[in-house]
Amino acid sequence: MGGVVTTQATPLDRLRDWLAQERLAAACITDPISIAYLTGFRADTAERLMALAVRGDSAALLVPALELDNAESRVREIEVVGWSDGQDPWPALARLLGSPSRLGVEKGHLTLAAAERLRSRLDGAELTDVGLELRRLRLIKAPPEQEALARAAEATDRVTVRLLEALAAGQSELEVASAIARLTEEEGALPSFPPLVQSGPNSALPHLMPSDRRLQSGDLVLLDFGAAVDGYKGDTTRMAVVGEPAARQVELHRLVLEAHDAAIAAARPGATTGAVDAAAREVIAAAGLGDRFIHRVGHGLGLQVHEDPSLDPGSNLELEEGMAFTVEPGVYIPGWGGLRIEDDLIVEAGGARVLTSAPRELFAVPAN
Ligand code: ZN
Ligand code: ZN
Repeated sequence: MGGVVTTQATPLDRLRDWLAQERLAAACITDPISIAYLTGFRADTAERLMALAVRGDSAALLVPALELDNAESRVREIEVVGWSDGQDPWPALARLLGSPSRLGVEKGHLTLAAAERLRSRLDGAELTDVGLELRRLRLIKAPPEQEALARAAEATDRVTVRLLEALAAGQSELEVASAIARLTEEEGALPSFPPLVQSGPNSALPHLMPSDRRLQSGDLVLLDFGAAVDGYKGDTTRMAVVGEPAARQVELHRLVLEAHDAAIAAARPGATTGAVDAAAREVIAAAGLGDRFIHRVGHGLGLQVHEDPSLDPGSNLELEEGMAFTVEPGVYIPGWGGLRIEDDLIVEAGGARVLTSAPRELFAVPAN
């Protein structure tokens, strides 16, 4: 952290500081997530070009004409320039960028075709990656971002409570998924991602999409969804069982919950991402199921539902106050079923604040 970075600095200020350090006269930002982070303007313009031209003393947002009014009403102290269908937006973008000999771009987002167009307009300027630095800036959530994440988690919790009450035997996974989407909208939010609803043996396959399979007695039901507020994502997983839970279901739910709580207890400034993963993994391994916990313990959360930090086994990023991520250990037993419990947290002094707080118990759905 350089001395120039203060808590009052906006994300755009902090990017400019970095560009100056790297002796880059300009950057061309094209990822809509980065543009949302730097300007507050959220739009996905699909195949139409949208770009933020950042220079030492100015910034300009080039948007398709149909987004012009929306963008002008959202951004402050940034010039907004529209381009119309039928026009070539690249000369306008090149003008906004000036004539840098080296240009910052997001190499993980800019297509090769777009890069070639930019370079031909800019006399072959050398392209340098700013994507990693933007991801690094986004690691620490500013107070307004933390507030948005907290509100997303609250909306997610309200959906959880209403959803569990509404579950019934005979509903299909797809019906439950559409109920989640409807409840989320009723809570004034948008789904963070297409909800996952996996019943019975389907719950053993993490991230399987919902099907027409109907909930039946004895099924574990894995529910993974989230509500997004102001672009910031909530993400939770809760478990239900149809009818009386079997002893093995109760036992494994308790184990996963213990691993989940151990990971949360390990999350504090100075701890590594790998230590948080290990805290959960040790609990599951001690029960002889280490090989059934088949993914990382969690992922960063913000404008994207998966962003940095990634809490991989063996990873060694040191946690800092303001980092936000999920904790979501699971065990998956092919043919039998799987369980995962997921909550969202923000690292704060001495520990972590858990944002999602809906009941974590194994929820029993009446079998009819
Ligand atoms: Zn999730
Ligand atoms: Zn997640």
